[in-house]
Amino acid sequence: MQIMSSWATPDKRVLVLFSDAVTDFLFAFRQDRHQPEAGGILLGHRRGNHVEITHATERVLTDHRTRVSFVRENHGYQEKAVELWKSSHGTIGYIGEWHTHPETVPSPSLVDINQWSQLPSRNANNAAMLGVIVGITRLYVAVLRQNPPPTILQPERDVKRS
Ligand SMILES: [Zn+2]
Repeated sequence: MQIMSSWATPDKRVLVLFSDAVTDFLFAFRQDRHQPEAGGILLGHRRGNHVEITHATERVLTDHRTRVSFVRENHGYQEKAVELWKSSHGTIGYIGEWHTHPETVPSPSLVDINQWSQLPSRNANNAAMLGVIVGITRLYVAVLRQNPPPTILQPERDVKRS
């Protein structure tokens, strides 16, 4: 399995770090044994253009949860974000969304691209939002823009975790 904790845009202007805990959490949901699709939100710190993902939550799904269709719903997951934002004195915030795909190397569907394009506009500071897809062996990580396509990040091999 490929696990990379540091990702960057091709121009290196945006660097995204995943904590080990978040990487472990996300890959626990990978669809390698007919598990249903899962998803949730990503939380972390921003430093200028850079983002450190420190927490991930699994969204509470009431129904519609099948292997091939993940229906995004808004039940309760924002409470966790608000709670962390308060307990961290505003340093940990909502920085994106993740979900699984039953693909070895995942790529976004048209539905993903469409839904992601609406995320930046829900964000008061207009800061870059992240879209992450957890495949069976790899992650797909992208910076979302108001106008698609998203900017795809590549794993960095030589950057040491701080
Ligand atoms: Zn998807």
